[in-house]
Amino acid sequence: MSDQPPADHLKAQGRALIREAALVAGKWIPVGDDAISVHSPADGALLGRVPKLSAAQVDQAIEAAAAAFPAWARTKGKARGEILARWAALVTQNEDSLAALISLENGKPWKEALGEVRYANSFISWFAGMAERLDGKAIESPNGEDLILAFREPVGPVAAITPWNFPAAMITRKAAAAFCAGCPVVLKPASATPFTGLALAALALEAGVPAGCFSVVSGEQDVVGGRLTGSELIRKLSFTGSTAVGRKLAAQCAPTLKRMSMELGGAAPLLVFDDADLEVAVSGTVAGKFRAGGQTCVCPNRVYVQAGIKDAYLEALTARVAALTVGDPFAPDTEIGPLIDEKGVTKVEDHIARTVAAGGKVLTGGQRMTGSYFQPTVIAGGDDELFRHEETFGPLVPVFTFDTEEEAIARANASEFGLAAFLFSDDLNRAMRVGRAIESGIVGINSGLISNAANPFGGVKQSGFGREGSTYGIDDYLQVKALTLALR
Ligand code: NAP
Repeated sequence: MSDQPPADHLKAQGRALIREAALVAGKWIPVGDDAISVHSPADGALLGRVPKLSAAQVDQAIEAAAAAFPAWARTKGKARGEILARWAALVTQNEDSLAALISLENGKPWKEALGEVRYANSFISWFAGMAERLDGKAIESPNGEDLILAFREPVGPVAAITPWNFPAAMITRKAAAAFCAGCPVVLKPASATPFTGLALAALALEAGVPAGCFSVVSGEQDVVGGRLTGSELIRKLSFTGSTAVGRKLAAQCAPTLKRMSMELGGAAPLLVFDDADLEVAVSGTVAGKFRAGGQTCVCPNRVYVQAGIKDAYLEALTARVAALTVGDPFAPDTEIGPLIDEKGVTKVEDHIARTVAAGGKVLTGGQRMTGSYFQPTVIAGGDDELFRHEETFGPLVPVFTFDTEEEAIARANASEFGLAAFLFSDDLNRAMRVGRAIESGIVGINSGLISNAANPFGGVKQSGFGREGSTYGIDDYLQVKALTLALR
């Protein structure tokens, strides 16, 4: 017996949160003729539409953020923290419906979507607690007489651009930190999943975030992105998405020299050493890889298993993956929902075809199902080159073999990306040695799940820069102001 509410009830709850609008300067702009249609990845049904805002409307949101900034920055940290705490409480009150909305527009199973809502909310609570702890430093001057006071001040209005794979968490990880610091936010959510961001913003306003401090803008990428990155009033861009778009936005930010956080793509390696606990390694691989159907930036993209444990690992992994249940996001036993769209499906097909052509063998899965559903797939062998440079973003685990620790590290690092990495070993010395040697921002040791509010999340190399969550996550929204006091 499942404790999940009935599908029809959940779908109705999710639909009730859909607002066909944008939020500009505290006002809801209703959808007009020029609009973006949002479809359910599960069955293609039209969920609703959001406006394609004009450049002038985006500017209005930016100007409102700039106008709201001084008062918001001066608001006491304790008061901003209380607003964040109220926002968190409202998200908790609405968590079933928000999860249903995520399942509707993103397609992840409802239980997993509920996990995302709680994960998203953990950032709001985390930064609620931090808002009254943003202290500075008193520094003695080299002359031994003067006193230097270093204050940490909010950077100013922030533009946040987010992807569709975590329609709630990628927003709160930015917005909660920005509000904690005293920055207003103009958010551009992904066009595939705008309704979750709009619903979260409605709750934020209800919690007391001032009008103007949180706008949600939708529209043509170049129009919205162009205004946000080009504006002198926006002092920081926080972007989560693909490396290609990140590069383009970084170039657009250059003329106004904005602060930037770039949470970009990955090609996470997962290493399994002979001395690993087999069950832990297999469970960790499945948990890490099949979250959101393989559509996360930290999903293991390529597995390297040491020769001595390879056969046992492949046998256990294949059995586990073959048993995963693919289905409707609202069915209680569903573990994997549909991919986001047809492009996502063809990419997985392409990666399978290229790996098979290079000598890889499909051990389970390998085929598309109806719509944008895809069979969970394990492939052994072939060439790992492709997976070092391209994210599959789907339910495919390619497994390769290595002999020595040095080889494993070299192959893990042979990529321009460096977001997440995973390793499985029961030798503590090896785990620490390899964990330190891998070029990535986040390493999971004997765990496939590494995302939580306390963990500094972010990449190195072309996976970007900046950290989100944790005590470090606030730094990207603060700048240091130094006053020198000449003592007489
Ligand atoms: P994407 O195509 O880069 O889009 C991300 C966001 O950028 C969307 O809101 C998108 O808008 C917007 N965008 C695209 N082109 C733009 C432009 N020229 N100007 C302004 N905005 C623009 O990425 P995605 O397909 O949504 O997400 C998947 C990618 O995100 C993967 O590479 C994944 O690894 C990465 N990701 C990284 C992290 C991390 O923390 N490092 C977390 C999650 C995902 P539209 O929706 O309107 O196209």
